[in-house]
Amino acid sequence: MSGLLNGKVAIVTGGTRGIGYAIVKRFLEEGATTVLCGSREETALKALAKIKEEMPDAKVEAIWPNLSDRAAVTAEFNAIKEKYGSIDILANNAGISQNVSLFDYKDEDFDKILDLNIKAIYSCTRAAAEIMKENGGGSIINTSSVVSINGQASGCGYPASKFAVNGLTKSLSRELGKYGIRVNAVAPGVTRTDMVAVLPEQMIQPIIRNIPLGRMAEPEDVANAFVFLASEMASYISGAIIPVTGAVVI
Ligand code: NAD
Repeated sequence: MSGLLNGKVAIVTGGTRGIGYAIVKRFLEEGATTVLCGSREETALKALAKIKEEMPDAKVEAIWPNLSDRAAVTAEFNAIKEKYGSIDILANNAGISQNVSLFDYKDEDFDKILDLNIKAIYSCTRAAAEIMKENGGGSIINTSSVVSINGQASGCGYPASKFAVNGLTKSLSRELGKYGIRVNAVAPGVTRTDMVAVLPEQMIQPIIRNIPLGRMAEPEDVANAFVFLASEMASYISGAIIPVTGAVVI
């Protein structure tokens, strides 16, 4: 532990696996009290048990509010604030994707992507920013994607949502700066998680061949950018969208 986040209180959405799980672990290693959000009680408690096994002394707990329900999110975040005194860091990381042709999209699936990838960021940010504003500041970090630059050739709802994440990031950095709240995003390239495991090999292999650093990102590569942006080392960085892509151009 190097203590970059000592004394801080952090919330990480989508913290049960993949990139979010790596963020939770890195935040804990850096000394933050960390609350992981899962979509369901069962998966949230399972991830919590795994972390406690790996890091017995970690100051960690789990919650599972419906992220699309602003009242539920606000109640949970306020309870965290009551318990620990503040919320200093929010990682808006939960996200889903779907690789489907425009003509095969189900309307409800398009809505689901927008609901989690955009509206949940709005709800969580609003609840956390109320608390950060009172406490004199904070750091909000959103998970964007490399596809927020040029889109992707199928599954248009996902890149559309990530373009919106960049829009929220830049707009909120301008609106919340006066409260000492920094808002940034990390835009990962292809990262070894369940989200990528479901994609067809013929889609993934050509992308990997084109990555200048010669490999997929590991979740920890992405989590390290979150640690940096959450820490005082990034005290004058706000409104940035940091690519963690191995220099790939998609
Ligand atoms: P993952 O599928 O392994 O994890 C997704 C996380 O989101 C899980 O913790 C899951 O519980 C949570 N989640 C899913 N549906 C939810 C819901 N309805 N309510 C609350 N939480 C829900 O994927 P990942 O690769 O770790 O993705 C994390 C973030 O990184 C996402 O925002 C994703 O868009 C982004 N991203 C991933 C890649 C990649 O290549 N893996 C690349 C760019 C961006």
